[in-house]
Amino acid sequence: MKPSGVMPIPNDAEDRRDITPVICYPNNNLQNYDRAFYDSVKKDMKFVKKIIIPPRSAGTIEIPAGFIFRILSIDGPQVGDLNIWNINNLDEKFYSGKTRALHGTHVGVGDRLWSSFPYLRPMATIITDTLDWYGFDRYGGSVHDVIGTRCDPYTNNLLSGKQYHNCCHSNLTRALADSQSLHLDEAERLVHDVLNVFMCTGFTHDTHQYFMKASPVRPGDYLEMFAENDLLVGLSACPGGDCSSEHSSDVVKCYPLIIEVYEPILDLSNWSPPHLNKYDRTHGD
Ligand SMILES: [Zn+2]
Repeated sequence: MKPSGVMPIPNDAEDRRDITPVICYPNNNLQNYDRAFYDSVKKDMKFVKKIIIPPRSAGTIEIPAGFIFRILSIDGPQVGDLNIWNINNLDEKFYSGKTRALHGTHVGVGDRLWSSFPYLRPMATIITDTLDWYGFDRYGGSVHDVIGTRCDPYTNNLLSGKQYHNCCHSNLTRALADSQSLHLDEAERLVHDVLNVFMCTGFTHDTHQYFMKASPVRPGDYLEMFAENDLLVGLSACPGGDCSSEHSSDVVKCYPLIIEVYEPILDLSNWSPPHLNKYDRTHGD
């Protein structure tokens, strides 16, 4: 939070404040969302498999390129912290910050989840969101943010002095280590900032601090994505439950989440995953 100013106010202060902002990353040049294509992909599809993620834990599931995965709320309102890796190269992982820069603080249908440098290409495309009616509320809150990070035991220790082992960071670390036979140390370094699925967040109007409030998600709601590449998806059922009060503890009621995987019936033999970013990587050398 910025302190109130102690420096002298220049005469043209209001003129400078009145300058119209420009969008940092005009995304008109990005390949437009091909609604007809994604609608036809999801029109007819065959259920393949699912995982159930128990409360305060995480799970991973492999999703082939061209398949669809659905993150589903069951039993009660619950927030999920999502990580995505390229299953053939775990170094290529979801880049929450650049996704935010390109699409905004909260993502929805038509937005892509972009991968880290030096790859920077779509990993998944959001094709259905049953919470798309929510929009932005009067507090400036909305769902599915890419502004938070993931609840973690380090920040928790910093603020409370406690040892807590079921933050999303640790849940994802254990799940990735188990599924890829990695040491916890190796797995932890591959865990990254998340898409906060179903979480309702924003910045307060007065102090501009990150806030959360009870998620509007209800059993039956889902967020559905098209896998643009061969993916390993990790999801943690956050210890914050619906994130209406606190996280990083065993205090609040938590519920499971499900990831369902579907294979489109549509023939995708003419479709291929997005190409790698075309920057030449010489960095001016
Ligand atoms: Zn969490």
